[in-house]
Amino acid sequence: MIEILKNYDLTSLNTFGISAKANFFIELKNEQDLFELLKTPEFQNNERLFLGGGSNVLFTKDFNGIVILNRLKGIEIIKDAKNYVLVKSMGGEWWNDLVIFTVDRGYWGIENLSLVPGTVGATPVQNIGAYGVELKDVLENVEAYNIETGEKKVFTNSECEFGYRDSVFKNKLKGKYFISAIILRLEKNSPNFGQDKKIYPALEKHIKENNLEIKNSKDIASAVASVRRSKLPDPKVLGNAGSFFKNVFVEKNKLDELKKIYPDIPSFVEGESVKIPAGWLIEQCGPRQDGASWKGYRVGNVGVHDKQALVLVNHNNATGEEIKNLAYEIIDSVEKKFGLKLTPEVNFI
Ligand SMILES: Cc1cc2nc3c(=O)[nH]c(=O)nc-3n(C[C@H](O)[C@H](O)[C@H](O)COP(=O)(O)OP(=O)(O)OC[C@H]3O[C@@H](n4cnc5c(N)ncnc54)[C@H](O)[C@@H]3O)c2cc1C
Repeated sequence: MIEILKNYDLTSLNTFGISAKANFFIELKNEQDLFELLKTPEFQNNERLFLGGGSNVLFTKDFNGIVILNRLKGIEIIKDAKNYVLVKSMGGEWWNDLVIFTVDRGYWGIENLSLVPGTVGATPVQNIGAYGVELKDVLENVEAYNIETGEKKVFTNSECEFGYRDSVFKNKLKGKYFISAIILRLEKNSPNFGQDKKIYPALEKHIKENNLEIKNSKDIASAVASVRRSKLPDPKVLGNAGSFFKNVFVEKNKLDELKKIYPDIPSFVEGESVKIPAGWLIEQCGPRQDGASWKGYRVGNVGVHDKQALVLVNHNNATGEEIKNLAYEIIDSVEKKFGLKLTPEVNFI
């Protein structure tokens, strides 16, 4: 029997630590709970929000609908081939637990995504990425339920329409499917490791500086974890949702124009376009005309992290509205200076 709770406090269920309430709330422990939920009036007559770890959402007000917390558990190897495995994980597993499960068994593929917060079920939504690897590089299938019909659909990698921090689940199928599980294809060997296997430059630097010996995927995962711990604020200590904005992609000629004015502008060629780190753009702008940077800025309860300008933080009982206002001021200032429009990575609720 499922239990739908009323007027539920979501403060501890979002990493910004924003105080917000949901009219209705339910925690799903298995697929049977979902089938029961779909028939209830609370589900049928209300706006719905699926929630995993709440590490990519900003509650700007109370949620006037039903919040569905995904806690579907289970990880299993569903195919063990000579060179690869297919690993299925239910969506309510913590992503980092899945990373640990795979590197403990010596599999390769998601070690660079170590310590990304949140649940497995949310990872396809924004095609999580870090240190040169994205979920789409290893994702075989997504299993999801159409929430109107209750029908299960298995999405192939290409049906997920993955892009940079983007997928079909953020666009035309937004809110239409509940992601119950994912299947990853991971390699058993990395024979090219150390030769032509790409190591992301920031990671390579960390490995060299700390004289780390990398023997397997587990070593990479722990190196990534230690870089991340040194750079990103721990949401348990300082509320945040990681990178608040996406990096910016421009055409080569736009970059050439910008370079005439800002010769130091960092850029990375990615296919046909060029990526400009949003953190750098934000650092060059600020709240005042005198050149003060947003980096480390604080106004009242909210601010910009002092080590990473991409991260907005809740210093103390901030409201989602305060964070949103700061985000828009930052977007305006970057647009005025560079003519580039930042897009939030975080989902505003
Ligand atoms: C400190 C920190 C560092 C971070 N670093 C990274 C990083 O390196 N790379 C990166 O890509 N992201 C990063 N993030 C963002 C975040 O970890 C990812 O976006 C993560 O996948 C969100 O998972 P979640 O379970 O918390 O999702 P939530 O915040 O709960 O939900 C995010 C979105 O997905 C939807 N959703 C959640 N579960 C489901 C489901 N089962 N079915 C359908 N829709 C669903 C929600 O409705 C919402 O729109 C970071 C966040 C923090 C706080």
